[in-house]
Amino acid sequence: MSQRFEPNDLAELKDMYDVIVIGSGGAGLTSAIQASELGLKPVILEKMSTVGGDTKRASSGMNAAETFVQTEHGIEDSVGKFYYETLRGGHGQNDPELLKYFTEHSSRAIEWLYKEGVQLDDLTITGGMSVPRTHRPHTTEPIGAYLVNGLLEQVRAKQIPLFCGAKVTAINGQDKVSGVQVQTANGNQAIQSKAVIIATGGFGANKALLAQYRPDLSKYKTTNQPGNTGDGILMAEDIGAQVVDMDQIQVHPTVQQDTDHVYLIGETVRGEGAILVDQDGKRFVNEMETRDKVTNAINKLGGTGAYLIFDQSVRDRAKAIDFYNSVGLVKSGSDLGELAEKSGIDGEMLNQAVDKWNRSVSDRLDMAFGRKTGLHVLDKPPYYSIHISPAVHYTMGGVKTNDQTQVLKSGGEPIQGLYAAGEVVGGLHGSNRIGGNSIAETVIFGLRAAQQVRDYFFDM
Ligand code: ADP
Repeated sequence: MSQRFEPNDLAELKDMYDVIVIGSGGAGLTSAIQASELGLKPVILEKMSTVGGDTKRASSGMNAAETFVQTEHGIEDSVGKFYYETLRGGHGQNDPELLKYFTEHSSRAIEWLYKEGVQLDDLTITGGMSVPRTHRPHTTEPIGAYLVNGLLEQVRAKQIPLFCGAKVTAINGQDKVSGVQVQTANGNQAIQSKAVIIATGGFGANKALLAQYRPDLSKYKTTNQPGNTGDGILMAEDIGAQVVDMDQIQVHPTVQQDTDHVYLIGETVRGEGAILVDQDGKRFVNEMETRDKVTNAINKLGGTGAYLIFDQSVRDRAKAIDFYNSVGLVKSGSDLGELAEKSGIDGEMLNQAVDKWNRSVSDRLDMAFGRKTGLHVLDKPPYYSIHISPAVHYTMGGVKTNDQTQVLKSGGEPIQGLYAAGEVVGGLHGSNRIGGNSIAETVIFGLRAAQQVRDYFFDM
């Protein structure tokens, strides 16, 4: 984006809007833009001083099937395959109603984004998928900042008010919402609205909640931004909402965490050809397996983590690597021996592993681990490595909604005027989320939430 995005001055915060959107990640921005396009007057309330949530950190892309982009790239895909592979990745525990709506509306979401100037016209692939359906910008840059900046352009163009430092502390109303309580530097304030869209993301940065649902994960660091503390889930529960799958937490396998900072190394790096080796220089897993399986394999190495190994060609196809390099996460060598020495890996074994891998690619047959996607020979120097180990990344559980994004009570009846979209919602991903499905979820259900709010206004 050419100009820095400036949120509105808190002094401009009014005490009534058509619809209040809580959170400024992919789901919040999408739903506010669509609400405005449908003739409503939304406001976006963001508790942090910056916008974009965890969406801004997303790397690989947005999954969608039967899109015009796939057609242009000669990729044959189907909604059915997308449904089945997501269900298989989630171990059959995905909410079928949400999954059906999700897979059937992904292509339309790509088209909507295109119209808004967010052009995801290149493709890559993530673990657990059989064809390239992860849409990304043609520059191959990480999707997160690109998407958020593109959506912010629309927020600005449509003059949608967006306030930072505006923390929603409660949703007002019981069976029917009437607004929210918000806390800002100017004090506490009640804001009225007939509808509220919760788009507050997950709770990967809330240590207490993680400890409550998954004490076994307490030793892990998190890739989440500090604002993702599950507020939306807790506030919805306070007014009777049902939650599901709260113990289903995704640990991402490839996270660089040797310094104080935690950097997720996007799945694109493997999708574009990187392999994983252990300290002995040996491959140990099908790198394109689902995230839970790759994480388990790394954990079995006994705490040493593992190394992503790739060549210049992979780097050319995954722009994010330039960033990883600029912050010192990447080691390089003019040949594999030099790389192994700098990385602290056994050089002879690494040479053998890459040799064997290149033969597997040429034969299109990975006898050792059965990898079928991201098949590229590694033969263009320099060679690179990134040391990685798993970290808490995504919370699959959250508030229960139907496919109309209505938040449901324990008896299954909707809370009138309350909608939710994005990571705050539980159920879509079952017990393991496929890379590229979270951005897709924010856009697909962000659009849906706004459309439902419009219908709700019509029905009143
Ligand atoms: P999603 O991917 O589902 O859109 P994100 O993590 O990208 O979720 O964005 C969620 C946003 O919601 C974050 O920017 C987070 O800081 C914000 N948020 C979380 N809780 C609150 C709250 N109580 N009030 C306002 N904003 C919140």
